[in-house]
Amino acid sequence: MNKGKKRIFIILGLVTALVYAAIFGVLWLLVSSSSDFIRQITLIALMSVFVLLLLGAVLGVGGLVFGLLWGKESKQIQKISRSFMEISYPGVVRIGKFLGVTQEEIQDSYIKINNQMTVARGQHFAPSEILILAPHCLQKTDCPHKITIDVQNCHRCGRCSVSGLLKIAEENGVKLVVASGGTFARKLAKEFQPKAIVAIACERDLTSGIRDMKNIPVVGVLNERPNGPCYNTTVQLCKVQQAINYFLQAEED
Ligand code: SF4
Repeated sequence: MNKGKKRIFIILGLVTALVYAAIFGVLWLLVSSSSDFIRQITLIALMSVFVLLLLGAVLGVGGLVFGLLWGKESKQIQKISRSFMEISYPGVVRIGKFLGVTQEEIQDSYIKINNQMTVARGQHFAPSEILILAPHCLQKTDCPHKITIDVQNCHRCGRCSVSGLLKIAEENGVKLVVASGGTFARKLAKEFQPKAIVAIACERDLTSGIRDMKNIPVVGVLNERPNGPCYNTTVQLCKVQQAINYFLQAEED
């Protein structure tokens, strides 16, 4: 997995933590120069929250760097790192925008870190517990078959990635569903109740999906958009197979 891209989120996370630290410093100055008792108590309470946030940020960034360098981290540190990623995400996007880093680059970095953390957990799953969640935009727009109702309606003509995904799903004994949008994908995830998900989507949908599936491990595979967004997209089938292998191989350990 690409370390360079993963660094984007980590560096911006560090900058976000420094901004928190600067706010803490300003509050500290206000408290020390204030004479009003109630004002002081309020500021001390606020400061306590910031100290906790700062501590979480230090542990969170530390965990991310440790995971990036060594590929392993303890469950507790990973929990803190994940919480840090969630809390800092809005700040990271804002600061990234200010520094000229696009939201897509940040989301790409977020997905790569998520994948590394998910794989590092080495959780065990049976094939029937794994769900491949694919986006509807993979289907050729002129294909008349209703694969969002039932993916088995695909006639496997081979003009789009859906036939290849069906083959992978069958060979590995995992479930495959095709969702027509983010909301529908969440609904399907609820309905099928998988223990692990291999999600295929663009940077935006993958990031929001991963952030929503708090208790389900997700490995994200980016789709490719040679014809522009949401239109006749494709996916590298070998990456989907590799993502399934992460979950299945863990079971053989
Ligand atoms: S493989 Fe062919 S039949 Fe199946 S969804 Fe794609 S275009 Fe339609």
